[in-house]
Amino acid sequence: MEVRRLGKSELIVSKLCFGSLTISALQRNFQVNEAEKLLIHGFEKGINFIDTAALYKNYHLLKDPVKRFGRKKIVLSTKSYAYSRETAEKSLVEALKGLDTDYIDLFMLHEQENEHTLRGHQEAIGYFIKMKERGIIKSFGISTHFIEGVKAATKREDIDVIHPIINYRGIGIVDGTIEEMLKAVKEAKEKDIGIYAMKALGGGHLLQDFQKGLEFALSLAFVDSIAIGMQRREEIDANVAYFETGKVDPELVKKIKTASRILHIADWCSGCGECVKRCQMAALSPGDKACSSGEKIVVDPNKCVFCGYCASACPEFCIKVI
Ligand code: SF4
Ligand code: SF4
Repeated sequence: MEVRRLGKSELIVSKLCFGSLTISALQRNFQVNEAEKLLIHGFEKGINFIDTAALYKNYHLLKDPVKRFGRKKIVLSTKSYAYSRETAEKSLVEALKGLDTDYIDLFMLHEQENEHTLRGHQEAIGYFIKMKERGIIKSFGISTHFIEGVKAATKREDIDVIHPIINYRGIGIVDGTIEEMLKAVKEAKEKDIGIYAMKALGGGHLLQDFQKGLEFALSLAFVDSIAIGMQRREEIDANVAYFETGKVDPELVKKIKTASRILHIADWCSGCGECVKRCQMAALSPGDKACSSGEKIVVDPNKCVFCGYCASACPEFCIKVI
């Protein structure tokens, strides 16, 4: 598996990053032993980079496999919505404790939209930069679904890494086209900012076009690593094979294509609408309460990118990506 330095950070990461949202309670809700087997399989295949977030609540699934394989051999990236010094400290302490480690390789601010949102998080950024100086975090970055988020981060000197949404159809980019996103990301890379892309397979939408999705992401020389959510050994094997050789066993591809995802809303939904407000993709809308199916919330499968953010906003815990 190819490895690269992640921009100006000192992190050396595998081209394929293990996106762990898929094994969290927001999606497949893995048990500790299932996660351990899957992650160790990925590490043995050459993946050394894991993407997680405070939101995913899955640190307990990652800590043992990382320790078992060797903490120093793995690059851990997490992110939070911290905006103040206190919330930043809380999220960092949670990550250190939850992952049972004394440093985090990459800490990011989650879902940054533009320079205003970054300014609103300035106190948290200040705290993370101090922690970087003390070696508690090794590098600092942002994740974003916005072209404006990429541009705002590029203007700053304190951001080492950007984690933008990139796929050939532009699925999930909130404020423009894939061409505009690529232009912004390229400019970031020219400033030696590390780039690791998310949702190369559109959060599952492009599974049917698995090879085309990967071919596109891998063709972008300015992308250092590509995070892909995986929940089965076959997915790891197929992705690793494609990343290493550009080819995949057709039997594996068949198995991958059966892994399509849906957003399930349980029937105890109260119709409060919190999820509708939370979704940046406008994929949710209030249902027609007069209709006989009685759905309180309707999911537009063409717009949903299975990010799971709505699930974290649901007070009734009734949303899952399955
Ligand atoms: S947030 Fe949960 S309970 Fe409220 S409308 Fe959405 S799915 Fe239903
Ligand atoms: S998972 Fe939820 S928040 Fe994410 S795009 Fe789908 S409906 Fe929107």
